[in-house]
Amino acid sequence: MKYRRIIVWFRNDLRLLDNETLFKASQMGAETIPVYCFDPRHFEKTEIGFPKTGAHRAKFLFEAIRDLRSQFRDRESDLLLLRGKPEEELVTLAERLEADAIFFSREVTSEERTIDRSLEKVAWSKGIATESFWQSTLYHIDDLPFPINQTPEIFTQFRKNIEKLSSVRASYPQPEQFKFPRKLIPISGEVPELETYGLEEPEFVREKVMEFDGGERAGLRRIQSYFWEGDHLKEYKETRNGMIGADYSSKFSPWLALGCLSPRIIYEEVKRYERQRKKNQSTYWLIFELIWRDYFRFICKKHGDRIFHLEGIKNTKDSWRRDSADFERWCEGQTGVPFVDANMRELKLTGFMSNRGRQNVASFLVNDLGIDWTWGASYFESQLIDYDVCSNWGNWMYVGGVGNDPRENRYFNILRQAKNYDKNGEYVRLWIPELAKIQGFDIQHPWDLSTAQMKEAEVQLGKSYPQAMVDFEGVL
Ligand SMILES: Cc1cc2nc3c(=O)[nH]c(=O)nc-3n(C[C@H](O)[C@H](O)[C@H](O)COP(=O)(O)OP(=O)(O)OC[C@H]3O[C@@H](n4cnc5c(N)ncnc54)[C@H](O)[C@@H]3O)c2cc1C
Repeated sequence: MKYRRIIVWFRNDLRLLDNETLFKASQMGAETIPVYCFDPRHFEKTEIGFPKTGAHRAKFLFEAIRDLRSQFRDRESDLLLLRGKPEEELVTLAERLEADAIFFSREVTSEERTIDRSLEKVAWSKGIATESFWQSTLYHIDDLPFPINQTPEIFTQFRKNIEKLSSVRASYPQPEQFKFPRKLIPISGEVPELETYGLEEPEFVREKVMEFDGGERAGLRRIQSYFWEGDHLKEYKETRNGMIGADYSSKFSPWLALGCLSPRIIYEEVKRYERQRKKNQSTYWLIFELIWRDYFRFICKKHGDRIFHLEGIKNTKDSWRRDSADFERWCEGQTGVPFVDANMRELKLTGFMSNRGRQNVASFLVNDLGIDWTWGASYFESQLIDYDVCSNWGNWMYVGGVGNDPRENRYFNILRQAKNYDKNGEYVRLWIPELAKIQGFDIQHPWDLSTAQMKEAEVQLGKSYPQAMVDFEGVL
């Protein structure tokens, strides 16, 4: 037996299934002490003034922690909850409990890596071993057919390379038993309340796409309902650009972001579905999208901090506007462009937005308003329940034109997009009740209505709904 007592530090891997860190610790026969640490830095205000972790995301996180704790408690173990800087708290705990090792999963981006290094250094100075494991991607970093610093810049090249030359490892089963030194740990800490971090409980919103409950068990239930009960996977490619309801896309992202689900578990379920139900373009496409997720993670690993920089990885010049009032109108869904506003209101009220919506509102902010793309990325970071540092900042770099997109200009013509994806205006009608009486596609461009039509729909531009910030006349 290599270690006697191991602290397993949970980060964005809040699950029992396919958790190599936990599995390896348990397999050693050592006593394992599962720990989560609430880091106050995650709840600070950003430079532009909103909380780094907003209420929707914090709520989802706290639910995931409660779920993990309850799963451990069902197995005669527990999840210890600490508050403070993990690089300090974990070493103090290890010393107090005489643990001889700390295991954790490896992260990619700089803030997390700095914490890892600091933890490793302090632990080492106290004679405590550390071991870290890579477990956030579909393809393991050690199986990439190229060194990380030669990760192809273009997605298609990346995908073709790994599909041809690599394979997905099998997932780890849940550990069979945990040895938990209960007598050493009489108090295990509490999950904070939203108020602890100055956040308010989000209101109930009837229009939301679905109930997102944090935690591994809810994530596994979602696989069950989307793949098996609803049988939606076979039509995923055709429906994935939808915007209303639970089943136009998988909605796995919030659980993936916190590691409640692993991409390998989803992959294995897709393969099982292909064997037992149907194999087609749609079943492949879900894996294709998971490869996008991997791609952004490996690109972040390759380029480090540059993904957060205004110039991105392309080193483009700063020509952005920083107009707080205009930015706030975008955040609040008050731009006067219904397709943008509907999506931004959904985000604010629920913490979720479809992929189609994200592409459009991001393009509107950077291309139509010319506002600093990093502001948009920071707002998404605060709001999205599926916030994932690499997917968020990577996608924003793309839209901002500072990433590695071979296409020079990712401009989305908002009205044409609205025509393709919300032709009758049902989505806009759902989120902008003040326009609800406008019929059909007219709701997407209220500025073209006649005075009589406005009156009939009870709309007064500039009063009941804002004048558009951008002139879209003649673009259709
Ligand atoms: C500006 C912008 C910001 C984004 N920020 C995030 C983010 O913070 N977190 C996040 O998970 N996704 C982000 N995305 C990607 C994408 O919009 C979401 O993953 C997707 O909408 C989640 O819904 P779903 O799980 O139903 O996706 P599905 O269509 O069912 O896709 C399955 C899974 O594939 C992955 N995936 C799909 N599209 C992408 C993509 N473009 N990039 C990376 N992974 C993808 C996700 O893990 C997703 O859960 C962002 C996209 C844009 C344009």
